[in-house]
Amino acid sequence: LGQRINNAVSSLTKNNVIDEKALDDMLKEICVALLESDVNVRLVSQLRNKIKTKVNLKEGAGHSKKRLIQKVVFDELCDLVDCHAEPYKPKKGRSNVIMFVGLQGAGKTTSCTKLAAYYKRKGFKTGLVCADTFRAGAFDQLKQNAIKANIPYYGLYTEPDPVKVAREGVDMFKREKFDIIIVDTSGRHQQEKELFSEMVEIADAVKPNQTIMVLDASNGQAAESQSKAFKEASDFGSIILTKMDGHAKGGGAISAVAATNTPIVFIGTGEHVHDIEPFSPKKFVSKLLGMADFEGLAELTESISSDTKESIMKSMQEGTINFKLLKEFLKMTMNTGMLSQLGASLPGLSGMLDSMNQDDTKEKMKSMMYIFDSMNEKELVSDGDLFKKQPSRILRIARGSGTSVMEVEQLILQLETMKPMLEGLSNSGLLGGMGKKGA
Ligand code: GDP
Ligand code: MG
Repeated sequence: LGQRINNAVSSLTKNNVIDEKALDDMLKEICVALLESDVNVRLVSQLRNKIKTKVNLKEGAGHSKKRLIQKVVFDELCDLVDCHAEPYKPKKGRSNVIMFVGLQGAGKTTSCTKLAAYYKRKGFKTGLVCADTFRAGAFDQLKQNAIKANIPYYGLYTEPDPVKVAREGVDMFKREKFDIIIVDTSGRHQQEKELFSEMVEIADAVKPNQTIMVLDASNGQAAESQSKAFKEASDFGSIILTKMDGHAKGGGAISAVAATNTPIVFIGTGEHVHDIEPFSPKKFVSKLLGMADFEGLAELTESISSDTKESIMKSMQEGTINFKLLKEFLKMTMNTGMLSQLGASLPGLSGMLDSMNQDDTKEKMKSMMYIFDSMNEKELVSDGDLFKKQPSRILRIARGSGTSVMEVEQLILQLETMKPMLEGLSNSGLLGGMGKKGA
């Protein structure tokens, strides 16, 4: 999906003249891609009209128009997953009851332990209640997760009534002055009457302050009707989107948010207890579009000195893509040993890394550093054009760094291939707010 949308936008922005037809063609491409990723037809057509209106062909032209189009596409997609509702925030010093609902296999039991551990890290006294008496082994599963994460839990092997277990568990934790009490419920394979009436009864018994629906990101088109049905029965206030570590890009989740006007609060990114992240619309859309994960990049660079980080971010935001920036990037990856992770965040770089085999990588990085060291300031802040005008510089650098002319040329070429991508992103304004937490 991301590739196609990017292609559509960039093929348009490569044209100097943006006329009505070019814009229509691009919008068509984008819509097809969104539909294929399970975004609802109605939403897609609304999106198309919004983009058209905002881009408004009659005003402005040329360069600024291109940026505008890229920005509008990104912003509108962000707007679709961001319903601007303030998510529920538990308060310390009182009992916050959180109830989980969702279909079987969505990831409720896994996610409620993740959430419990998340709040525990934030200093909340947190307990888990297993109100799934429908599936054999449900209590054991929750118990094992809870023990591993060192979180108090409540459940009964012999009581068949989930309402009773839920009430008793919540009462017990309330008496013990727990801040957060999370109630796991059972699911069914499909939306069934019994499931919904059970949910309503449990909710009546424990009076949750917040109900969270757990949604599997790979659900596709079904996500919309599913979330609607759950909304009617349980009026959940937020969504946890699970299995975002898989191939699913979560197009269905956009429909779920729009259909229920309910925010996604967390995403599940794996099977382990720490595989949970607060939801960020920008990050989600970046992934949907297959773009560089700049927030991930910002997190990754947290271990790097703030001076280095600042200079990288500044260069990118200003759109100054030069050898200095490339050097900082490579230094960063060498220091952290997070080469592959960074590569995954930045498509341009991953191409470069792919072209080397593992053993060669270290050596190659070293010679690149020698090359940078042999560049003077003027060369470091250049974007490669300088070497076209004065190729003798290449020989000087190769000699000075003990590398070959070919290696220096390769490095120059590398910057050229990364340049359009980085510049496009910087110019589009997509990097605004980058590095700010919780954007
Ligand atoms: P429940 O029936 O809704 O309680 O679902 P479970 O919590 O039992 O999860 C069903 C399966 O999905 C289990 O195998 C989990 O390990 C897996 N699972 C849950 N969340 C995630 C996730 O974010 N990523 C991945 N890869 N697997 C997950
Ligand atoms: Mg379960």
